[in-house]
Amino acid sequence: MGARLLVIGSANVDLFATVPRHPSPGETLIGRGGQRSAGGKGANQALAAALQGADVTFVGAVGEDPDAQLALAGLREAGVDLGSVVTAPDSPTGLAIITVSEAGENTIVVVPGANAQVSVEQATAAVGQMGAGDLLLMQGEVPRETTEAAVRAAREAGRRVVLNVAPWMALDHDVLTAADPLVLNEHEAELAADELGLTSQGDDPAATAQALCGAGTASVVITLGAEGAVVAAGPDEVTRVPSPRVSAVDSTGAGDAFTGALAARLIEGDDLVAAVRHAVRVGAYAVQHPGAQPSYPQADAELP
Ligand code: ATP
Repeated sequence: MGARLLVIGSANVDLFATVPRHPSPGETLIGRGGQRSAGGKGANQALAAALQGADVTFVGAVGEDPDAQLALAGLREAGVDLGSVVTAPDSPTGLAIITVSEAGENTIVVVPGANAQVSVEQATAAVGQMGAGDLLLMQGEVPRETTEAAVRAAREAGRRVVLNVAPWMALDHDVLTAADPLVLNEHEAELAADELGLTSQGDDPAATAQALCGAGTASVVITLGAEGAVVAAGPDEVTRVPSPRVSAVDSTGAGDAFTGALAARLIEGDDLVAAVRHAVRVGAYAVQHPGAQPSYPQADAELP
């Protein structure tokens, strides 16, 4: 059997509204849309990886409600192993309320619900099932203690960990530096540098990536939106990877498309820069289509 990707993370229902502009505090605006689709950073990345051909196991928690079906439908259809997803009896399925402006910028409010119930025991049991060559991928939407325990268990077992601390949460330093790579956007990279006590590199993401590597992280990828990404495979080894130029309609979930595709390629044996070169194309594809999971390319899609 080939190597598998284990994703321990969130599964949500995304509720979308398109607005002419984002409302100010206290303001009511008329929007359009109201579509509901599957989301959550864990589920998004699991789906993006599966669509890129990876064998994926997803571990998470949903509520005992109709949203649970919607949250997992795309993963089920893509053949992702959902055998270790639990139903949390007293919490709703996670919900994200997303507004997209006509300029293509989004705001997101996440209500974790059942995602807050993904436990240390559930996560470490799943890590215990990993085989040699398998890869663990986690994000910032399940509890801190669960994330830290899973990453430590994976490292102790000699498994590679890809850690996308999005949204940002404080993590112990040994957990942050266990990532290979640590995947962050520019804002999260600043917060990570601050957490590790590094001097700010201003708006120089290459220098920030290098500094994070210098602090002990094996490798770092910082995503730069339309500019692509910067990869540090060591303190002295920085590569800029541009993104294809595309016309963006909705960037929701682009970071997840990128990270899922990156993990899928790492499992196949690509080196980090080659995997990022593929991931920027998948991210660029996603921004050309509305929504998160519905915007991800199928395996046979033509990438930009
Ligand atoms: P989000 O939170 O919206 O999912 P993010 O902040 O985590 O995104 P970004 O750096 O905005 O991550 O985007 C991730 C990747 O998606 C980029 O590295 C790039 O490959 C692609 N991407 C994002 N925006 C654009 C764009 N406007 N044009 C082309 N590619 C883009």
